Amino acid sequence: MNLDDLPIRDDLRGKTPYGAPQIDVPVRLNTNENPYPPSKALVDDLAEEVRRVTGALNRYPDRDAVELRADLAGYLGHGLTPDQVWAANGSNEVLQQILQAFGGHGRTALGFEPSYSMHPIITTGTSTEWISGVREDDFSLDAGKAAAAVAEHRPDIVFLTSPNNPTGTALPLETIVRVLEAAEGMVVVDEAYAEFAREGTPSALSLLPGHPRLIVTRTMSKAFAMAGTRLGYLAAHPAVVQALLLVRLPYHLSTLTQAAARVALRHRAELLGMVDTLRRERDDTVSWLRGKGLTVADSDANFVLFGKFPERRRVWEGLLARGVLIREVGPPEWLRVSIGTGEEMAAFRAALEGVL
Ligand code: PMP
Repeated sequence: MNLDDLPIRDDLRGKTPYGAPQIDVPVRLNTNENPYPPSKALVDDLAEEVRRVTGALNRYPDRDAVELRADLAGYLGHGLTPDQVWAANGSNEVLQQILQAFGGHGRTALGFEPSYSMHPIITTGTSTEWISGVREDDFSLDAGKAAAAVAEHRPDIVFLTSPNNPTGTALPLETIVRVLEAAEGMVVVDEAYAEFAREGTPSALSLLPGHPRLIVTRTMSKAFAMAGTRLGYLAAHPAVVQALLLVRLPYHLSTLTQAAARVALRHRAELLGMVDTLRRERDDTVSWLRGKGLTVADSDANFVLFGKFPERRRVWEGLLARGVLIREVGPPEWLRVSIGTGEEMAAFRAALEGVL
């Protein structure tokens, strides 16, 4: 029997699953992870905390993750209170819950592509119709055109991604405001990479007062170097959080996950301390690639989109053959490299020179 023989939903037939390759190579620069593993102090603290909570694993976790949400609100600042914050297993699950609550059959979600490939996948996975908006040639969003697309299609959900994956492009607040003014439904600003933005890039969190249909999503997978923990979160009006309680599975966030996230938040000075290093490495990577005569998108994230290669598959394979895994993603002719340690980026540069 194969997949097609199953009575699977018609709208899932012929689809391919999300699939960044997980290949064991010396230099992995393909999924925008943080290359720095947790320090011994964090590992010790986490082990201690796990030991403490393990004694109560016969009980279900705190269903509403109250303490964790309070910690997250404290981290985000902007005067946010715990009832404005919600958390789930990665921001992917947060996004899925948003779609479950505000999307669904007969509803639409609009995003501006190229952008994060899971937005359309989660959209269609919840039987919501995906509408693809466009970006300018430099991957920026024209505020007027974006607002016009929203006014034309009247989507139930708009996705804005800032900084955008895979292009690295951040959005000015004015663009987000224009979209908010044009939107009748929910506006989700996916800020998975917010901590990597260059100086002077304000967060959409500052727009929450006065915009009750704005949702800002974040993750501990990137700047916090906690991708393995699976902890994503959002900030929004308390009524939005109440809407998500209607669709979340009971006890969705395990006791261990909540404990790990809280420990990581306590160690945020150390974890976020590496963000500056990664930013510098990113800016150096952009300059180096441009020095090689390549086209490079400005990046406010921990990755860089570069090209253009008429045969990008050949370049991707050439790098892989040299032990460096990057991502074949985004518009044709472009490739994306995640920012690793200084050593990993030196390996990337050497491999790319070899390929070119
Ligand atoms: N949003 C964007 C823009 C992303 O790039 C990613 C991860 N690649 C996510 C959300 C999801 O991250 P996570 O589920 O690990 O929080």
